[in-house]
Amino acid sequence: MSLDIIKLLPDTVANQIAAGEVIQRPASVVKELLENSIDAGAQHVDLVVKDAGKTLIMVSDDGCGMSETDARLCFERHATSKIRKADDLFAIRTMGFRGEALASIAAIAQVELRTRRSEDEVGTKVCIEGFNVTEQTPTAMAAGTVFSIKNLFFNVPARRNFLKSNNAEMRHIIEEFIRVALMHSDIAFTLNSDGKEIYHLYGGNLKQRIVGLFGKEYDERLLYVHQESTLLTIDGFTVKPEFSKKTRGEQYMFVNTRFIKHPYLHHAIESAYQKMITSDSVPGYFLNITIDPSEIDINIHPTKTEVNFQNVKNVYAIMHAAVSKAIGMQNLSTVIDFDETNTGIDFGEVCRGDKPVVFPKIDIDESFNPFEQDKPKPFGQRSGFGHQTEMPLKTQGDWRVLYGNSKEETQTPEPAQQSVSKVTSKTMFIQLQQSYIVSTIKSGLMLIDQHLAHTRILYEKFLKRIENHTPASQQELFPLHLTLGQVDASLLRELEPQLESLGFKIENMNPTTFIINGIPSDVKTSDSIELIECVLEEYKDNLHGGVTERNVALARALASQAAIRYNTPLDELEMQNLVDELFACNVSDVAPNGKKTFTIISLDDIKTRFN
Ligand code: ADP
Ligand code: MG
Repeated sequence: MSLDIIKLLPDTVANQIAAGEVIQRPASVVKELLENSIDAGAQHVDLVVKDAGKTLIMVSDDGCGMSETDARLCFERHATSKIRKADDLFAIRTMGFRGEALASIAAIAQVELRTRRSEDEVGTKVCIEGFNVTEQTPTAMAAGTVFSIKNLFFNVPARRNFLKSNNAEMRHIIEEFIRVALMHSDIAFTLNSDGKEIYHLYGGNLKQRIVGLFGKEYDERLLYVHQESTLLTIDGFTVKPEFSKKTRGEQYMFVNTRFIKHPYLHHAIESAYQKMITSDSVPGYFLNITIDPSEIDINIHPTKTEVNFQNVKNVYAIMHAAVSKAIGMQNLSTVIDFDETNTGIDFGEVCRGDKPVVFPKIDIDESFNPFEQDKPKPFGQRSGFGHQTEMPLKTQGDWRVLYGNSKEETQTPEPAQQSVSKVTSKTMFIQLQQSYIVSTIKSGLMLIDQHLAHTRILYEKFLKRIENHTPASQQELFPLHLTLGQVDASLLRELEPQLESLGFKIENMNPTTFIINGIPSDVKTSDSIELIECVLEEYKDNLHGGVTERNVALARALASQAAIRYNTPLDELEMQNLVDELFACNVSDVAPNGKKTFTIISLDDIKTRFN
């Protein structure tokens, strides 16, 4: 007798699994509800969250509302008023269209919906818990819709436990809120978190919206971008080169108002800024590409931000030209005449599929590969993940053997630090190109990379300091003001305990402004603001690059920012101290990013050069 072993999953389980695809965190709920309100034609949308959305997410709107039947139906999977046939998928212009969001949310939270159409006298209240309707009653209310999502993942503890700290989840929520708010500047939005109003945005134009979201100083910082062609239209603003920041985060690109991440098009913008900003700065932009939906292949998964353009090279060229025009690059304007009344190149002509393509002469980095990780950064900014993992060479204690100029010392075990200085004091150091330290050792020549060596030293020091909470601080002469975007600001708040352990003295003035009263005593910088911006930037890079431990990511970021740069002259004593400290480290031979701190050219190597 054989037994059938396949069983159908109960609906509730199937729904919970499906929900996981759409709803990964409170921010996913926020995105879906805000988009629904916009699709419903709302003019005012209010978002209220408690505990970063873990306890409550409430979205109220004055949109079209729902009938009594729809108020119940909207929670069914594939219930949507926005698409009727598969073809519609390719012409879709509304925000949501798969009819999955509410079904997913209802499967994993306690949901209360109150909604009324303006033509109805009373509204409807529906309560759903884990996909079961627990209440449906008439209710008095203003026209519109109010969704309250309580106790997200209450019935999926594994997912609930997977959620990050409130600060981290709040950052995701703010990011989604910003993306939606940017593309719907005519709609008024508010965001309230644990009783505090974070944003109060009035309906207006895009510039006013950017100013509302990022601060009034942006009024002066923005450059208008507008480029039309028959293929597409690009609209929005970029940030003037002189206001480019070291921190990423103000890069907002949309296609048909949907937020996308597109490294290739990011490069088109970045290269338009070439030479106008330092290579470690990232230009800010807020740009929307309007294009016929048939020209793009959007990954229709609601949580994805990828999009494929059929004519991506042309989109690149137009994007590059549009931004170049906005920032007034002289050399480019001679190549492409943008004057509409002139017989300049019409991008529409150039870019329409069937005709032979006359490509506008614009420098495109053909070798650029958007799928490659970050392009190489200048010295001191490298993250170098994935190259090499840290391989501790047993150098501590044994390293003196390298010098071989004292038999006695190489044989007598002594505390490393002490013996180090003894040996090296006999040793001569020469600095090469103000970047490398050269020293003779028994077996040949040792070359030490001063920046990487110092990074290693500081990294171990900083990590210890964070872990033991032993701050060493120097007072700023005058307190400095640091203004950050919302996302970076909440990141900074999140890192406050660690930064304090390191010796930073930072006060939070308001949601986005900080006062810097002190920095770690062994960090030499003439610009503490820039230092903090760079550290934040590199910290984020580290996390993206796969460093999972926050303390490690932070210690690494600060170490590489604070370490002696290349092209810095060092005197004999400084070189000696550096070498001493390097070999007193737990790991001496590699920097935290996996690169070698020193290399040895053997006598044999040297001999063969004279053959
Ligand atoms: P989708 O947005 O993909 O259609 P959802 O599950 O997000 O799917 O929503 C299902 C349906 O519920 C929508 O198509 C819409 O008809 C209705 N709906 C959702 N939110 C609102 C709202 N705030 N106001 C009016 N109708 C709404
Ligand atoms: Mg939707």
